[in-house]
Amino acid sequence: MSAATGAVTDALRELHTSYAGADGGELAGYIPQLALADPGAFGLALISMDGHRYSAGDADVPFTVQSVSKPFVYALALSLLGLDEVSRWVNAEPSGEAFNAISLEHGTGRPSNAMVNAGAIVATALIPDTPVAPRFGRILDCLSRFAGRALDVDEEVYASEAATGDRNRALAYLIRSTGPLPVDPVAAVETYFRQCAVRVTVLDLAAMAATLAHGGVNPLNGERVVSEPVAAQVLTVMATCGMYDASGDWLLRVGLPAKSGVSGGVIAAGPARFGLAAYSPPLDRTGTSVRGRLAIGTLSDRLGLHLMRNPALPGSTVTLVTTADDLPAVPAGERARRQRVAVAAAQGALDFTAAERVLYALDEAGAGRTGAVVLDLVRVTDIDTVARAMLRGGLARLAADGRRTAVADPDGRLREPGDDTGAARSFASREEAVAWCTATASG
Ligand code: GLN
Repeated sequence: MSAATGAVTDALRELHTSYAGADGGELAGYIPQLALADPGAFGLALISMDGHRYSAGDADVPFTVQSVSKPFVYALALSLLGLDEVSRWVNAEPSGEAFNAISLEHGTGRPSNAMVNAGAIVATALIPDTPVAPRFGRILDCLSRFAGRALDVDEEVYASEAATGDRNRALAYLIRSTGPLPVDPVAAVETYFRQCAVRVTVLDLAAMAATLAHGGVNPLNGERVVSEPVAAQVLTVMATCGMYDASGDWLLRVGLPAKSGVSGGVIAAGPARFGLAAYSPPLDRTGTSVRGRLAIGTLSDRLGLHLMRNPALPGSTVTLVTTADDLPAVPAGERARRQRVAVAAAQGALDFTAAERVLYALDEAGAGRTGAVVLDLVRVTDIDTVARAMLRGGLARLAADGRRTAVADPDGRLREPGDDTGAARSFASREEAVAWCTATASG
């Protein structure tokens, strides 16, 4: 391990040491096989958006995924049917109830959300079941692609839940009796038991969470598993519903989309940052791993990961607002002619927030808000579609005000497909853009 990355592992190890002795919680006895788990097992894992893997403790101990499968099967349903169709059959409202509650909407029988059992059974039922592509085969394949390796089923845990899972069967019968669901939830509940019995390690769970955080692309192998909008939809429902009747408190204190399962697995995702997972079987009264909650909560707090704290404020989008005569590259004799050419330079990745700053700088550029304007994008690394449209619109408005506009845009970032000229005259360097404005301004 290198010295630099050792710091991340050390952070996980420190948490592991802090909480390995934390007592409290009980094993999930209602699935007899889960009651045989080692209560002392404890693993933590983090996977970055570059696919770097970090872990501490029992990183290779297999356990069953249980309810942590729910967001991923929901993702599969969303991918196959779309949000509108899926939402007809399963809502996206926090239930404020336990995972196995009868959370069905009055009148329609629609479950509150896909993170509680009732909604998860419906999500599973919605996955098409055909001879060529059986429902469970699709689900196992999907979970495996999220994890980045071929997963399998713990047949003993499956048999144990299938033998004792009458509450979930009862839920499925209730759903069938109240709603016009086009597929059979009673048949699907057996598939749901199998999906819950898929075997993973804490590193697999971190990879699965990281794939959601990474916009649906598995950071370990670069494979796209679901689309970016689907990943965002799933993270949203995890944020509002993933921790059942503790979802509000979790979002308040930890501030990350998350999902727990009764075998002791917990995942949390930092969008565009990392996937995090914990494994420790003893559960609190909401069915969440006691040590998992402590470790992820403390990590979020120490590293400032709470979503609402937004520490990633782009502080230096605009690097320069000046008139061309201030630029060292302009010879003294030329300054008078270039006086009225204003320059705004930007850097980094431009999104909506960054584009607003750049547009503000463009407005400010130039004494008296007259004269030519050069937008220098030489040090810009990326422009998203929103920022591109905003900058093009801003330049067009300046031009409509009678101001000369040019961009230094060597990589053609402001160009749109099928559009060779761009929103303003485009040059490879700031100097060329200023020279063009000077020539036309004096002409
Ligand atoms: N298979 C479990 C059940 O349906 C999953 C529940 C959970 O992990 N919260 O009861």
